Amino acid sequence: MRTGTASATASRKTTRPTLSSPDRVVYPDAGITKRDVFEYYEAVADRLIEDAGDRLMSVVRCPDGIDGERFFQKHLGPAFKSLHRMEIAENDGKRAQYAWLDDLAGVLSLAQMNVVEFHPWGSRVKTLEKPDRLIFDLDPDEGMAWPKIKAAARELRDTLAEFELQSFPRLTGGKGVHLVVPIARRYAWDQAREFADRFAHAMEARAPARYVATMSKAKREGRIFIDWLRNGRGATAVASWSLRARKGAPVAMPVTWDEFARVRSADRFKLRDAMKRVDAPIWDYAGARDQRLPKAADLH
Ligand code: ATP
Ligand code: MN
Ligand code: MN
Repeated sequence: MRTGTASATASRKTTRPTLSSPDRVVYPDAGITKRDVFEYYEAVADRLIEDAGDRLMSVVRCPDGIDGERFFQKHLGPAFKSLHRMEIAENDGKRAQYAWLDDLAGVLSLAQMNVVEFHPWGSRVKTLEKPDRLIFDLDPDEGMAWPKIKAAARELRDTLAEFELQSFPRLTGGKGVHLVVPIARRYAWDQAREFADRFAHAMEARAPARYVATMSKAKREGRIFIDWLRNGRGATAVASWSLRARKGAPVAMPVTWDEFARVRSADRFKLRDAMKRVDAPIWDYAGARDQRLPKAADLH
């Protein structure tokens, strides 16, 4: 599954950007510095690129560490080196410059620019208008116990399987879970979004005590919001292997369903835990790349 390891290693010497302010503290609670973050991204770059490479990217920057002001940035100008750029029409029709990366130099230049989180689109740049994965973002009500969240993720997995859709779990590093569903690059954004919308509402209809498919938090009341809005054009979700700008330096970590059965929280994997599993095979994604969406009529 991993690609580009040899060439990334070979090019490392020439592409490593200078790291400024290496001793600046990024995670005060965990004593993690900008150098640690940079070295983390150097170590996991191939895995991050596997998930986020060739995708338009938004980032979360924390120039003063995670307790300081943070910036969710969609438009990365020339100050961000070693990136590829693309001018696109945004959904309101306005033209804007977006950026994407496909190598270690791009990853490290963003780390140098105080990027902590990576948030890619659901499509690749060469097929920008055809998403290649859906994401169901399970957002539990505040304080919901982990076993409930876990049971919900498995119920969604099993329901997706009824439609012959294989899904892969990612612990967000925050409160919830993302189910990632690879799909063939043959559907327009509206089709993908419509399926995600209908699926989320079908779950709510089946188990209204457990799921809600509309955004307003007031309506959550002990339920899980199935956030299907991650599936529109221009929407993002945090990349696998991205650090989160939250206490303890948790990582958005893909896990197998077997591992998922054993973990105890969505922020189980911290920076150092992630480093240790950088070579582990995790998702067996390849066989699912060509998955087809069911017809809308099949979703009751
Ligand atoms: P958690 O498990 O705690 O919910 P999460 O990453 O799923 O973690 P959400 O708040 O559910 O967090 O957001 C889902 C995704 O929506 C994010 O990963 C991000 O890509 C995108 N997102 C969040 N906030 C913004 C924002 N202010 N502007 C644009 N996109 C955002
Ligand atoms: Mn979420
Ligand atoms: Mn959400």
